[in-house]
Amino acid sequence: MIFCRRTPVLLLILALLATGCSPTAQPVSRTTTRLLMGTLVSITTWSLPTNASAWEEQERQGVDAAFREVARIEGVMSSHRADSPLSRLNQAPRGIAHPLLPELADLLRRGLEVTNASGGAFDMGLDPLILLWGFSREPPPQTVPDPQRITAWLEHHAPGGLTLSGTVEQPLLRLANASHGLDLGAIAKGYALDRAVAVLQEQGIHNAIVNAGGNLRTIGAKGDRPWRLGIRHPRQAEGVMAVVEVDRPLTMVTSGDYERFFIHQDQRYHHIFDPRTGYPARSGLISVTVQAEDGTLADALSTALFVLGAEQGLALLRRFPGSEALLMLEDRSLRRSAGFIGQPVAEP
Ligand code: AMP
Ligand code: MG
Repeated sequence: MIFCRRTPVLLLILALLATGCSPTAQPVSRTTTRLLMGTLVSITTWSLPTNASAWEEQERQGVDAAFREVARIEGVMSSHRADSPLSRLNQAPRGIAHPLLPELADLLRRGLEVTNASGGAFDMGLDPLILLWGFSREPPPQTVPDPQRITAWLEHHAPGGLTLSGTVEQPLLRLANASHGLDLGAIAKGYALDRAVAVLQEQGIHNAIVNAGGNLRTIGAKGDRPWRLGIRHPRQAEGVMAVVEVDRPLTMVTSGDYERFFIHQDQRYHHIFDPRTGYPARSGLISVTVQAEDGTLADALSTALFVLGAEQGLALLRRFPGSEALLMLEDRSLRRSAGFIGQPVAEP
């Protein structure tokens, strides 16, 4: 999986992070940041000012536990680590069903729902293509691979190349051939958000934001104030394209062509591929932000929409009730689904 090793901040937490206590006992925020899954993961908690150091200790332990969970997920799902359970599946012979962790199978099952609904635009079997392009290397590539190699990959990469079978306790995975290998870069960060939030809640922390490279999930509330979040402008390094103010928990994930890319002969080549061509998706979109019930779905959908483009993407969204999207097109115009929470920011 490509986890960007630079630190893209796709969504900026705006004006939320002031610390300190006021006479009216506003919540105090604490933010801890770690480098995980190739990006900056930060957890911000809110609680009323207290002198009870026992609570602060409990909060610290809860946040630590959530970070440990994200690190565990990275250890299972990274394709960069040769000994991860995911890499071992990628190294195993093709055409045979191999046992895999129930957790991995669950995540693949959820991802396959989006694969099927998107007609294969969302594809968790792109590891060989990503290796061919070199997007998992540091520094990122600067040139296009030999087109014949892409054609050779495409010839063997048919939809349905990734099949789950077996039981819930002992699931099995079959990868059809060498053109299929697991890469969960488009879904694992969203899953990590969900798991980090679940751990925080188990630890008694109920007001927080988990932010993984700009993909975020909020829980609880920020006292009597709404959450105020910004979505990064895909063409302005420090710019914000929309502001989201909301007074309830929210999950929001962004896919964009600016996270990892190179320019070759005036053409932008980025890290989100169209499995039908073997080339970076050119659907007319440059940024897709999805709000959905949970991070796993939001992450899968944001990538699928990016590949499908505005019309087909918005149609896909309607198959997942409760999910909403804001799209920026190449001409910088915006499209949004009816229930997307947030307001575009006027061009400076
Ligand atoms: P995201 O930023 O969530 O859109 O995920 C992009 C990452 O997912 C890439 O860096 C690849 O690791 C992987 N990926 C690229 N194209 C696809 C695709 N069409 N379907 C699923 N995963 C993809
Ligand atoms: Mg994604």
